[in-house]
Amino acid sequence: MKKNIILLSGLFLFSGFIVAQNKGLVANSNSPYSKLQSVGLQDVQWTSGFWKEQFDVENKNTLPYMWDLYHNDTISHAYKNFEIAAGLTKGTFKGPSFHDGDFYKIFEGMAATYAVTKDKKLDKQMDEAIAMFAKVQRKDGYLHTPVLIDERWGTLGPEEVKKQLGFEKYNMGHLMTAACIHYRATGKTNFLNIAKGVADFLYDFYKKASPELARNAICPSHYMGIVEMYRTTKNPKYLELANNLIDIRGTTNDGTDDNQDRIPFRQQTTAMGHAVRANYLYAGVADLYAETGEKKLLDNLESIWDDVTYRKMYITGACGALYDGVSPDGTSYNPADVQKIHQAYGRPFQLPNATAHTETCANIGNVLWNWRMLQITGEAKYADIVELALYNSVLSGISLEGKEFFYNNPLNVSKDLPFKQRWSKEREGYIALSNCCAPNVTRTVAEVGNYAYNLSKEGLYVNLYGSNDLNTMTLAGEKIEIEQQTNYPWDGKISLKIVKAPKEAYAFFLRIPGWSQGTTVSVNSNGIAEGIISGSYLKIFQKWKKGDVIELNIPMPVELMQANPLVEEVKNQVAVKRGPIVYCLESDNLPTDTSVNDVILSVNAPFTTNFIELHNRKLLNIDAKSVLNKDSSWDKKLYKPFSTKETKEYNLKLIPYFAWGNHGKGEMTVWMSH
Ligand SMILES: [Zn+2]
Repeated sequence: MKKNIILLSGLFLFSGFIVAQNKGLVANSNSPYSKLQSVGLQDVQWTSGFWKEQFDVENKNTLPYMWDLYHNDTISHAYKNFEIAAGLTKGTFKGPSFHDGDFYKIFEGMAATYAVTKDKKLDKQMDEAIAMFAKVQRKDGYLHTPVLIDERWGTLGPEEVKKQLGFEKYNMGHLMTAACIHYRATGKTNFLNIAKGVADFLYDFYKKASPELARNAICPSHYMGIVEMYRTTKNPKYLELANNLIDIRGTTNDGTDDNQDRIPFRQQTTAMGHAVRANYLYAGVADLYAETGEKKLLDNLESIWDDVTYRKMYITGACGALYDGVSPDGTSYNPADVQKIHQAYGRPFQLPNATAHTETCANIGNVLWNWRMLQITGEAKYADIVELALYNSVLSGISLEGKEFFYNNPLNVSKDLPFKQRWSKEREGYIALSNCCAPNVTRTVAEVGNYAYNLSKEGLYVNLYGSNDLNTMTLAGEKIEIEQQTNYPWDGKISLKIVKAPKEAYAFFLRIPGWSQGTTVSVNSNGIAEGIISGSYLKIFQKWKKGDVIELNIPMPVELMQANPLVEEVKNQVAVKRGPIVYCLESDNLPTDTSVNDVILSVNAPFTTNFIELHNRKLLNIDAKSVLNKDSSWDKKLYKPFSTKETKEYNLKLIPYFAWGNHGKGEMTVWMSH
């Protein structure tokens, strides 16, 4: 009986009726186990300062560049693959098998940008692409160009098992997410209808597939995608599918730690394997938890979060220490059981700098996961990681001008290392065979505004600081408008002016960053004495009127950071951090023929700050004192007596880590001797 009622309500809800009140990146307004809810994609407009500059770079440079690049089949074959699959032109599939998904990510960035700018050109371009996707889609909903091109032009028969470990589900996952964002940004259902076909195909496929066929381990963006489809359409089949996808993971005998499917998710308590796949999995499981409230899922996510945050994450918020390695989680030393891993989490505290893989996509995955943990719990520690990764290891993935990218985000580049790593230490316009990160950072930059605020039943959460206008509705349906002004992250003074507020008393929850000390907060210049605790949200509950001003002052001294001594690679070294920004030293700020590894930072000398302009971007630099212990006699020596001869004082210029590699090539380091 009960089952019938659920089915009926499901049918009613998904037969054409779409719940549209919820317009954020995640439509969690009806998620029973989500404490916070998204504001609308169009509700936050950057007005000046850091994120306005970054958003303008996105809108003016990155999006047009990426659109043209992905239509230029001499460089990227992504759009051409759609044309061939649609039968418009004859040809073969070219490019990585995740090409479709990368195009959807660019599309998602366009949709999120359109939500804010309402730029007609973007709308037209998106409609053009959607018409193409519709031509490509098979009658049963399937949409994945490598297979559809083979089917249409008969170059290769379907290889079902191989497909499962290709990027089919990754591509479909990004399609579903992009379609939900497009629907919320435009109100149009043309892409969402295609995504429903894909979701229905997946539902039917997983109903029939054996566990072997159902392996779905490669960069599983489809967990996030299918839950978002459930939230958008209310079709209960999609939630059932999301739950089944987690159930069947790790039930075959051929799973690997690299794919996090050697054992079922419900047995996993530490982070393992490929860091993009891992973080996408954790983000998807967090989405599932927000809908089902299954305690085991959250318990495991919290345990894995502790493992990553306290043992396996870089100071930049980056994830995935190893290019290649073996899984440290084998139960005993049996060489036959030891599994290869790649682009992966290593052992606890194994955090090499020069050889760090730290793929931009993994760092974005860290944002996606922590963002969802914040939604579920309302705990500021997750917002701290969102901020840390965004400002450091995500933005490092894109050049200041927005057209060149990093696949890896190492914390040290030393020119004398006698080996060449597979991926470049220089920014590139197109990273052949692995351009996944560029479209990913493209969509992420477009979406930062949506991370800035959240709503709860009690009030408004302010998660990220940056000058913007917020224009949204409380959960009770009343208008709320705020003008936020600040020069954050360069300065910790923030003012929030109330333009429109609910009639009754309403709470503001202000994030007091975990890295901060001595923050002061006032309302209309009256200081608040209690409750200002670093790493938490300060709740201010009162009646508000137009013109009220909340002011925060978050001190931002230059901080010297050290690592747990178990991180062997940085023992007795320090990194420089100010506010949320990690700094680095580049060799072109040193005398000729001096290595970043020769620098000994004078930790007791004063640090001063000053603004510079680089590629039209305003950056706050830090001047520091050092001594250069230049010693060129390491030739044919691995060890030698300690010496401090040949030292000279030198004034260092440190730049924000995210801005490294923007002017010529050279060495770079985050950690320095002292
Ligand atoms: Zn990537």
